[in-house]
This record gives sequence, structure tokens and C-alpha cells, in this order.
Amino acid sequence: MNPDTADSRHPAPQYRGRFAPSPTGLLHFGSLVTAVASYLQAKSQQGEWLLRIDDIDPPRQLSGASAHILKTLEAFGFEWNGEVLYQSHNLVRYQEAIEQLLNNELAYPCSCSRAQIMKSNPQSDGSIIYPGTCRNGPVLKSDEHSIRLWCDNEMIEFSDAIQGKQSIDLAQSQGDFVLQRRDGYFTYHLASGIDDAEQGITEVVRGADLLHCTPCHLQVQKKLQLRHPHYCHLPIAKNHAGQKLSKQSHAKAIQADKAVSLLHNSLIFLGQSPPAELLQSSRSEIWQWATQHWQLKDVPAKNSRVFSDKI
Ligand code: GLU
Repeated sequence: MNPDTADSRHPAPQYRGRFAPSPTGLLHFGSLVTAVASYLQAKSQQGEWLLRIDDIDPPRQLSGASAHILKTLEAFGFEWNGEVLYQSHNLVRYQEAIEQLLNNELAYPCSCSRAQIMKSNPQSDGSIIYPGTCRNGPVLKSDEHSIRLWCDNEMIEFSDAIQGKQSIDLAQSQGDFVLQRRDGYFTYHLASGIDDAEQGITEVVRGADLLHCTPCHLQVQKKLQLRHPHYCHLPIAKNHAGQKLSKQSHAKAIQADKAVSLLHNSLIFLGQSPPAELLQSSRSEIWQWATQHWQLKDVPAKNSRVFSDKI
């Protein structure tokens, strides 16, 4: 699939990047790495950097986290262009997209539960590959259906700026995936696929833990005839136990009074070489150095260094 497929309704003449945290927890070192890389990548191209809050899963959200994330980003010296996009304000658009896909028979209601799918299509590694059971209509009578995207049986190919050439067969790796859950909430794949395209994002920079989601976003964009951004997936920050930093692994929230050392460490994590003297400098001096010296080519595909628990 060619990431340059243009959509004349959404011209993106210049570089536009974004940072899209979910307010399920506070920002930690792993989130900072993503924010720093996406920000510097945009600044190095004289581009724009947008902020989006992925708040479409209220049961998983932490009260007050959105406001805390904004305040933390400000305290670290990030400046975003335009208004923050809250996905919870875009629900009408997501519903409209679901209807368009259903009307065009590109999506369908599904009555299968997770347990039923695992039973009907068992995988030795416990993964879930949906075998298309409800493609011709929901097999069980139920008041609640999820909505799945009818995926093409083809290899999805894209070139990632850090992880290199990717080639994934969606049908083999997960099958038709969910756009709207049976509880009515829209999924990350639907919302992110739409917003990245409609905000004119030219390059998505995010953690490699989301690399496997990219084919789903490309499928959503293809079926809705939207533009595809380019992609750039960063090495994942892990803790001493080798777990990805996250709310689940109890990653520590980043503190603004440690901004200089945390920014310095993020740059080192991202393969940049900030001089040690910068640790004694101000926040604006470290940003000045970073914007002048940022080199995407130096970012490693993987990084086993652990910084998080030391700060
Ligand atoms: N909201 C997602 C997260 O916090 C990331 C979305 C993205 O960068 O595509 O994990």
C-alpha cells in the first residue's frame, strides 16, 4: 500500500506530526521518549506538531489524567500547534464512518465473543485470529454486536522510517478487526486511522509496540478513501525486568522538576549525543541543542538501556 495516496480534501503540504497519549495514566519516561522524538522530528522539518488526547475508552481512563498530561507537557517545554483534539469530541465523525462502511458492505456486525473466537479458531500461542464467522450475518441472535472491518486478503506493505520494510498479512495475523465494540465504544484502530488522516498528519512517530496496529490503520484509511501518513516506530523503553514502561508495569510518572535530566536521558535513549554539560543547563538550552542536533538516522530500532527507575 502506498502511503502517499493523496486525498484532495485533506492536502498536507508540509510536515505535520502529532503526539497522541491516552489518558489512562500519567506520562512516564516511555511517553516522554515518544513526545520528544515526534516533536523534534516535526521541528527539524519546520513542521507542525499537534496534540491529540485519545480519550475514547472511559472505563480505562484515569480521572484528571488529560489535564495532568497537558500541564506536564507544558512544564517540559513542549509547544503544540492549534487546539488539542479530544477524540471524545469526534464521536459523530466515527459513527458516520461506521455507517459509511456498513452501507458499502465494507464492515459487518459480529456476535462472536472472544471466548467463541478462541474456541472456533484456536492458536497455539493464544493469539486471536478472527476467522470471519459473521461475514455473512451475525451467527447468533444478540442485541449487542461489535462492528468489524472486512479486511482484504492481501499483504499490507509499508516502509517504516526506523523499523524498515514491513509486510503483514492481516487475514493471517488477526483477521477482520473490531471498529466498534459491542458496548458501543469506538476502537483505537478506527479513531486513530481517521484522525491521523483527517488532521493531515504526514508522519506518525510512536513506539514500536504499536507497529502491529499500523496495517489496521492503513486498512481503515483505505476503506474510507483517506490519505495515509508515513510511519516511524521508535524503540520501546523498558524497565529493569524487561517490561515495557506502562501503567501496568507501574512506570513512574515524570516530574517537571526533573525536566532537564529526563530530556537529556530521552535524547540518549533516542541515540542522540547530548553533551554531559547540558545536564547543568536550562530547559530551553537543552531544547535548543536538541532541535539543532536531532538526527532521525541515529535512532536505534531497539534499545535495551534502562533509565526509567533511576530518575
Ligand atoms: N493513544 C495511544 C497510546 O497512548 C497511542 C496512539 C498513537 O500514537 O497512535 O498508546
